[in-house]
Parts: sequence; structure tokens; C-alpha cells
Amino acid sequence: MKIYLRTYGCQMNERDSENIAAEFAERGHDIVSDDAVADIIVVNTCSVREQAEQKAIGKLGHVLARRNARRASLPIIGVTGCMAQNRGGQLMRTLPGIDFILGARKTHMVPEIALKMYARRLGGMCHPKPPRLLRDDPESADTYLDISDDLQSHRYINRHLLADTSQTCAYISIMQGCQMNCSYCIVPKTRGIQRSRPPEEILEEAAKLVDSGTKEITLLGQVANAYGRDIGLGGDAFVGLLRSLDKLDGLERIRFTSPHPSFFTPQLTGAYAELRTLCEYVHLPLQSGSDRILKLMRRPYTASKFLEIVSRLREAKPNISISTDIIVGYPGERDEDFECTKEIFEKSGFDMAYIFKYSPRKGTLSAELPDDVPDSVKEGRNAELLDLLAKQSMEYNLRLVDTEQEILVESCAKRNPDAIMGRTRTHRKVFFKSSKNLAELRGKLIGVKIKSATVAALEGYFYDPEPRL
Ligand code: SF4
Repeated sequence: MKIYLRTYGCQMNERDSENIAAEFAERGHDIVSDDAVADIIVVNTCSVREQAEQKAIGKLGHVLARRNARRASLPIIGVTGCMAQNRGGQLMRTLPGIDFILGARKTHMVPEIALKMYARRLGGMCHPKPPRLLRDDPESADTYLDISDDLQSHRYINRHLLADTSQTCAYISIMQGCQMNCSYCIVPKTRGIQRSRPPEEILEEAAKLVDSGTKEITLLGQVANAYGRDIGLGGDAFVGLLRSLDKLDGLERIRFTSPHPSFFTPQLTGAYAELRTLCEYVHLPLQSGSDRILKLMRRPYTASKFLEIVSRLREAKPNISISTDIIVGYPGERDEDFECTKEIFEKSGFDMAYIFKYSPRKGTLSAELPDDVPDSVKEGRNAELLDLLAKQSMEYNLRLVDTEQEILVESCAKRNPDAIMGRTRTHRKVFFKSSKNLAELRGKLIGVKIKSATVAALEGYFYDPEPRL
């Protein structure tokens, strides 16, 4: 059977989709890249931004319309992820042709339910009718305490990977959910409170990935650096996990996303100087540089505390690359608040950032506030920060010209199949040409001399005759 999966949103969603794909593949089905030939279509959705929701709704509308035009009952079309959790009932009403809707913590049930529905459509009515809408009850503490369901989904991926090709770079989910309560964010409602996986399970998964050829691991968690606090491992559990992973023979690089400034301890900044594998790159969401707005957002840190973390990071690794998330136009944001954001943006020297214009998300605390910053003002602030970002990124990249960078070779360049793409430890994309082909270099660490830079990437040449690994 042919399965098409479309994913919107963050790396957590990407990881969930990998699991869904692995489960289908284990049952002998093919994952295809063209939805027109698929027997089952699954859209894994995101609810964090309005735009991501609209894109997913557009995609669903498109595949439903095509099925309607054919007057067919196949393919089976299902939705999972955060929007399925948050707006499942509404989706059912507005797009009644959708066959199933499974919330963010039910993604592991997607293959089973989709396949049962497919069998029923083909006439196998002996199959019991599977439920169309399954979500967690956000009011039920019990649901959140039962971690077996969603953590179960992280176990089978390795079997698939070991049987299949290796991944140079792989994600590992170290936790689910979030215990913070940022006023604008729907995640605690869609993914539940924080639930960390046991460290031995994470280490086992990492060891298997490394054995199968993985060189770089990115640890995923909504508040990755609060890892383990919910299961009684104490405040240093995340650093402890990094230290254990650092000892894995064959693992070359570790990244993680996303940390919360409130849990960025001196032990964690110290780990950048101490651990061989911990890459000189961190995504540290600021959201706003105004203490007044941070308080309204329920982000329990101040701009000066944020700058202190940045300075500790730069002390540990002077060349560290720091990216961030910013929301402009939060309710009540005045010009002077935005000026503070600009100031912290510059002082932090961010060389990469995701800048969003605030839009209220139904079900969040801030959705109750008047969305009182005019669109034109949000647009202007967004553009100002993008200009500043372009300037800072360019400065950062230009500093790398004429230096040698260690890059981990990942793939062909998307827009130029003759060029090869790898990343520096600081997460910069580097494009280069080589007499060696991709198959010879993929997964290898090589030295590349950087010869030019743009805002978004670097170009170099591969001068190291032998890859180092
Ligand atoms: S820390 Fe805040 S923004 Fe991040 S997932 Fe949790 S509630 Fe959302």
C-alpha cells in the first residue's frame, strides 16, 4: 500500500512523522512523495501559528476535493498532530470528508486506525469500526500521567532504522509536553505536561543509532534543558544526559532544541567548554527584550538574565552561533518595548532568528487580550528585525571566510545537484564541489576551506584528501 505523509511545524512533529512512517514501513507499506498515488494520506499538523494551520487546512481541502471529484471513497485521509488535538471537532465539521482525526499524543495509533479504515472501505466490514476522532482530554490529569502511550511511539523507530539505511543526523525525543505556561502558546494544551523518558532508554536509542552510522544527534524537547525534573532526576539531569551521550564512541556531534532561558544553568553553559561533542550552536528563544512584555507573556526571566546567559555561552565558546525566536506585536507592545527587543537582539548577536508577528491562538491566555497592535505596526517591526538579522548573519558568516571549517557531509544541495551540502558545528550550511561523489562523503567529517559567504550559507572547497572518519 502507498502512504503519503505531510508534516507541518516543528522538529517534534518531524520526529512523530518519522515514527508513523517507520510503523507503516514495518508493516510492509511504501512511503511515497506524491499524494496523487497514495492509498492513505496523513497530514501531521501544527497549531503554533495561524499560517501553519492554514497551510494544513489548504492541503486537506485539496486532497479531499480531488477525492470528491473522482467520486471515490479512497484514499483514506487522516489528520494528526497539534491542530487535530486543538481543533479536531471543528475540523470534523468543516471538512467532513476527513476519515480520522488523532490528537498529538495519539500519533502512534495512526497506522493501526488508517489501515483498519482502509480494510473496511475495501469491503472488509468484519473489521470493527475504528473511532474517527481521538484526542486527549486536556482537563484530565490522568491522561497526562499515563506516559506509556506516547513514549511507546519512540521505541519502534530504531528497529526500522537498523533494518534500513542509516541516518547521518538523527533526532531523539527526550521528553513530551511542557510544564510552562507561556500566555501565547497552545503546546501545553495540545501535548500535555512534561513527561521525560528514562535516561537509559535515551542512551540505548542513541547507541543503536550510532552503531547504524549516525554521527550527529539532536535531542528534542519542548523545554529540553528541563529534562528529568519531572521524574525526580534533579536540576542537573540534562547536563548529566549530555555527559553520558558525550562518552558514546562514534558519536561526533550533539545538538538540542529548544532550551528555556529559565533552566539555562551555569552547569549547562559550562558543558559547552567541557564536552567534545556538544556543538557550538544554541537556539535560545528570547521572545521579547522587554521585561514588561516578558511578564505578560509569562516568561519568567528578564532581558538582563538572558544577556547573562549569552555572555556565559560566549565565554565558554567565543565562536558560538546563537539563534532565537521573537514575537513582535504581542498585545500591549509599545514602541519602547520593541526598542528593548532590538537592543537585546543586537547585544546578543543573534545570527539566525525566527521572527513572528503575533496572532492569537484560540485556547491560550493571550487570546483573551485585545490584539491591539495594528498589522501595519507588526509588519514594520518584523521588517526592522529581519533587516537587523540579515546584517548580523552576514557579519557572522563573513568572519568564517578564509577559515577551515569541519563539516559533516549530509546531502546534495537541493538547488544544485552537482554541489554537496554539509554543516559546520555552528549549524551553518556549507556548499562545495568535490571530485568525490556524495556516496563517498556522506556521513564523513571533512575539512572545508570557506571562500565566500551569503546571509544564509557558505561556499567552500574541499581540500582534505582523505575524510577523517
Ligand atoms: S516553554 Fe512556553 S513557548 Fe515553549 S512550549 Fe512551553 S509553553 Fe510553549
